Amino acid sequence: MTSYFPYSFSDETVFVSTMPVGRRQRRLARLVVTTAGLLFLIGLPFSWIQLPSIWAFIPIYESWLVLLDLITAVLLFGQYAILRTRALLVLGSGYLFTAMITVMHAISFPGLFAPNGLLGGGETTAWLYSFWKSGFICFLLAYALLKDQKSQIRGPMRRARVNVMVASLVVLMIVAALTLLATFGRNVLPTLMDGDRYALASRQISAIEWIPGVIVLWLLWRRHRSVLDLWVLVAGCVTALEVALASSLNSGRFDLGWYLGRSYGLAAMSFVLLMLLVENNRLYARLADSRAELRRLAVIDPLTRVANRRAFDDALDEEWRRAVRSNTTIALLLIDVDQFKAFNDVHGHVTGDHCLRMVADTLAANVRRAGEMVARYGGEEFAVLLPGSDLAKASEAGRRLLDSVRMLDVTAGASKPHITISVGVASMSPAREADPVDPGATALVKAADRALYAAKANGRNQVAEYLPHLDGVQRLADTGMDELLFGQAPKSDGNPA
Ligand code: GH3
Ligand code: MG
Ligand code: MG
Repeated sequence: MTSYFPYSFSDETVFVSTMPVGRRQRRLARLVVTTAGLLFLIGLPFSWIQLPSIWAFIPIYESWLVLLDLITAVLLFGQYAILRTRALLVLGSGYLFTAMITVMHAISFPGLFAPNGLLGGGETTAWLYSFWKSGFICFLLAYALLKDQKSQIRGPMRRARVNVMVASLVVLMIVAALTLLATFGRNVLPTLMDGDRYALASRQISAIEWIPGVIVLWLLWRRHRSVLDLWVLVAGCVTALEVALASSLNSGRFDLGWYLGRSYGLAAMSFVLLMLLVENNRLYARLADSRAELRRLAVIDPLTRVANRRAFDDALDEEWRRAVRSNTTIALLLIDVDQFKAFNDVHGHVTGDHCLRMVADTLAANVRRAGEMVARYGGEEFAVLLPGSDLAKASEAGRRLLDSVRMLDVTAGASKPHITISVGVASMSPAREADPVDPGATALVKAADRALYAAKANGRNQVAEYLPHLDGVQRLADTGMDELLFGQAPKSDGNPA
């Protein structure tokens, strides 16, 4: 369906990747980085102290990491599918990359699945760790460079899915290539480990890794606009501390720096996930609110705040079917404000709107029983549905409404115009009187409409009833107003406007 609405909606407070950084977020991030920095400084002098080799630590730690990274990747890809920014695709790919290379790292770790690891010993493991950290830094660098690009990739959801699949495939190929390099290409790579200690090349590579790492941190620090930027920055800072502790400033595997660094690694990979989970909770809450609001907007008339035509049609259908089932009556009042065009012409549309609101409030105040409903039927017309009411009761209600509206104290500038309405009343017992050709509730609307027409024709400011036992409908259609067979409800007291 073509939309003629000229504005586009954007709500940048919904997603962490578009939500601007608030003061609380900034304070929390600062607290996290300061705490991590302090613990780093406290642990640093002892980082070389050798601790017992707890083998269970590695599978537990790496399983956690894989799980964290995979969930983060899925959530980021999901967000990419909505927002279509390359930065999100790249960041999601980065987390997928770390998940996959962590699996390879665990498989290769000596003593875990086999005495010498499944992929060829400690050298492979050390190289995979190095690829893992430098690879993640590269993805962060790409994110930092792309993050300010506007959403560019437009198109159907299918295309986003294809892009995610292609990105995942590329990541898997990179991981496979790096694993092959770390296993079969070991001979061409420098030696990183000397037993459980780091060799010189390991320190040199760690030093080189710092260069892109510092660039990433600088880029993100300079322009971290969204909450996601901020927490990627925090993840980057904590990863830097991890690399410093676990492969730069310590002496080898299973020393304090190594254990502390790995814990930093786990923390670093949790921040973005935690933010995404918090965001998800907030999104659920907003979704529930929006649904409630949408439902309200779908059934409420914005000007008069009574039910709108759609809500009326639904209620009429439902009550009609209920009346058929329970063999009860259902009544309808159709109400039209008298000479309202003239009112607008004289007093203006703004006063006219105000007046319509007053009429709606008055009608609503008088129609309060369960199941009864006031709706704005159109322009200055209202419908009142009275399930269970017979013609006498409905006409009585109509007269009450007529009087209430007439007594309204409308002010238009210096004048006090009188407002009156005309009311058409009809009541039916659907189980008995339903039209075999048109058995729906429209028969009731037609009947009330004819009564309203008669009330207007008869001078306005009155209630007219539709009398089903007189064959009025046919004759009205055939011969026009003069032969109208409508019973007129007694006029209420008071002067017509
Ligand atoms: P009658 O007594 O025969 O009903 O005369 P009328 O002038 O009320 O009838 P008509 O249907 O010709 O005109 C209805 C007017 O109601 C036309 C329009 O100016 C006014 N109207 C409809 N909707 C609105 C609205 O939302 N706000 C305002 N201010 N006026 C409205
Ligand atoms: Mg009208
Ligand atoms: Mg009117």
